Amino acid sequence: MECYLDNGATTAVSPSAVAAAKRAMEEVWGNPSSLHRRGIDAFLLLQQCRETVAGVLGCDREEVTFTSGATESNNLALFGAARAKKRRGNRIVTTAFEHSSVIAAAGKLETEGFEVIFVPPEPDGTLPAEKIAQAVDENTILVSTMLVNNELGTVLDIPKIGRLIRRKNKEVLFHCDGVQAFCKIPFKVSRLGVDLMSVSAHKIHGPKGVGALYVKKGVRIQPLLYGGAQEKKLRPGTEGVPMIAAFAAAAQESAQKMLPSQEKVAELNRVLRERLAALDGVVLNSPADASPYILNLSVLGIRSEIMLHALEEQGIYVSSGSACAKGEPSHVLSAMGMERSRADSALRISFTYESTMEEVEMLVETLTSLIPRFRQGKKGTVHI
Ligand code: PLP
Repeated sequence: MECYLDNGATTAVSPSAVAAAKRAMEEVWGNPSSLHRRGIDAFLLLQQCRETVAGVLGCDREEVTFTSGATESNNLALFGAARAKKRRGNRIVTTAFEHSSVIAAAGKLETEGFEVIFVPPEPDGTLPAEKIAQAVDENTILVSTMLVNNELGTVLDIPKIGRLIRRKNKEVLFHCDGVQAFCKIPFKVSRLGVDLMSVSAHKIHGPKGVGALYVKKGVRIQPLLYGGAQEKKLRPGTEGVPMIAAFAAAAQESAQKMLPSQEKVAELNRVLRERLAALDGVVLNSPADASPYILNLSVLGIRSEIMLHALEEQGIYVSSGSACAKGEPSHVLSAMGMERSRADSALRISFTYESTMEEVEMLVETLTSLIPRFRQGKKGTVHI
């Protein structure tokens, strides 16, 4: 049995998404900007997909801009907002445990002369709204915080952050990286109090290389690219209709499955926490009230990569911290102030609506058997 528990990194593309892409490639291959029938058909499909994604996000069709994924959406939000607002102020507030696509974009803006405040999480992985609001002043033009942290599952109180930061500064733009919350935690983007939100298709059983940026009506940001008039000139370039069609199909299916699978995923998380807590030398790094889709733990004394590959040999796929970190110490765990040895032995388990209790059992049983063998230094003799 294969046990894929790395759904925070990416998810299997659903058959409905594959079918939607195939249909668009084979049948609706026109350029959505062309004025003839072929173009109109592609334009109509594009608009239908925009409507679907907007429906799932909880906003109007005009507020959805398609991008190549959340890395682009995050960059577009940060650079676009900073450049649009630079005459009004100089400070950008974000958190020290954002995805690297926010951290690195904010770092680049810092080199361009903006003052960037990276608010650190608490040692328990939480980050209170007040702490973020404290960093906001009259000079602040942009606040960027995620809804669900991709390594820990920490859920930030976005509506409260929005209220507190606007109390201090009405002009501030508020961007939210919604990647790990989209189609997992129910929300309507229009009710969160944000101006911008990034989402990605491949975390919700769509393909890689497509995502969206929600831009609230009336909010003006600058584009990263210049060219044609596609996506209201905010993201020029012929739209990738097949990828967008697959994204819309995945979003629709994931949204339908979100509520019915909520209890199941919560139970998977609860059982996993309980069983892991009983294992010698295993500590949980995720906050108690984290998203049930993500659980971060450390198997003390055993490096993440060693355990990751030992699990892989048994057909179990998990992540060491974050897939994007590739061997580097996790900036998220470092920002919590976690000691290096514990951070170096961190693993992330991440679920999807398809995850099962059998997978949880298989993971726990395999860890139970692997841990004592590694502790005795007999890695070569592991056969399960
Ligand atoms: N933001 C978060 C929270 C993520 O987890 C990821 C992906 O790991 C991204 C942004 C980047 O998304 P994409 O792979 O679509 O560029």
